[in-house]
Amino acid sequence: MIETISTKAYGTEAAEAPLDQLGIERRKPTAHDVEIDILFCGVCHSDVHTARNEWPGTLYPCVPGHEIVGKIVSVGGHVSKFKVGDVVGVGCMVDSCRECQYCNEGLEQYCEPGMTGTYNAPDKHLNTHTFGGYSERIVVDENFVLSIPDNLDLAAAAPLLCAGITTYSPLKHWNVGPGQKVGVVGIGGLGHMGIKIAKAMGAEVVAFTTSESKFAEAKRLGADEVVLSKDKEQMAAYRGKLHFILDAVSAEHDINAYISLLRVDGSLALVGAPEQPLPVAAFSLITGRKSFAGSMIGGIAETQEMLDFCGEHNITADIEMIDVQQINEAYDRMVKGDVKYRFVIDMASLKEEK
Ligand SMILES: [Zn+2]
Ligand SMILES: [Zn+2]
Repeated sequence: MIETISTKAYGTEAAEAPLDQLGIERRKPTAHDVEIDILFCGVCHSDVHTARNEWPGTLYPCVPGHEIVGKIVSVGGHVSKFKVGDVVGVGCMVDSCRECQYCNEGLEQYCEPGMTGTYNAPDKHLNTHTFGGYSERIVVDENFVLSIPDNLDLAAAAPLLCAGITTYSPLKHWNVGPGQKVGVVGIGGLGHMGIKIAKAMGAEVVAFTTSESKFAEAKRLGADEVVLSKDKEQMAAYRGKLHFILDAVSAEHDINAYISLLRVDGSLALVGAPEQPLPVAAFSLITGRKSFAGSMIGGIAETQEMLDFCGEHNITADIEMIDVQQINEAYDRMVKGDVKYRFVIDMASLKEEK
């Protein structure tokens, strides 16, 4: 029997029920575990989809949250990478098989038997499923824990653990850098990080938005140029001009209009997840040896690399801080796109709750 620690959390017992305080059990740290006192947790669209069972397969009770920043309060006997007092992060994964070819290549997110999600995944230690960061504390194997650069604001750094790595990984994989024109489609939680990171990598960034009201914002975030995507003339001016496009839109949209903006050998990578299949015209790909691709978060080593890169370039997310008691309202606002650009929960608000 593994000993457990009773832990206050915020979550839901059913798809239709609002999130509320509930109690969960965390394992006591085993030899390679660290126990993290959670300070901040970002609010990701996946949290809403999972809590509301919009991607079927939610295990209840559901405690979301995979943009976690906190302080280590205890460590297991064999922990070598961290010590009590370290400020650390936990992202979308807390474990993987650690022996398949992808785990060996540092691509734990694509682990063959499947990575262990920070929430809603079978728990390898306790006879239950994993619970995320909307809680007082979390216990995680040190190999899935990241160091947060000490110059970054901790609350604003939390979204780097999902939104940051989700955009950094494809930009890195497709070798974005100086001398390239890179499109970022959609200026939200993911897209605003994509603009900042692509710019810091040295690319010329072209932001695409459906709303003229976001022009000034996109420029402030670092975009060199902004295009109103529903204006055919503005779009036509970029035909064949872009080396790479990061598509962070989760709603239905005309993918061929963007593929036509790629240069020969250019790639468009999806990081958003529209519910319906996107029709791709073969001719838009074959007439320029173009690639239509996708990407999901990043491996653990790459996540640390991203955090160090963000530390060096002083990049964090633009956030709106909330108390955990405001989470249901925050979900509704996020679904409407009414947040600039990420909600982050101040977890002190949970600790103070009776
Ligand atoms: Zn996420
Ligand atoms: Zn694996």
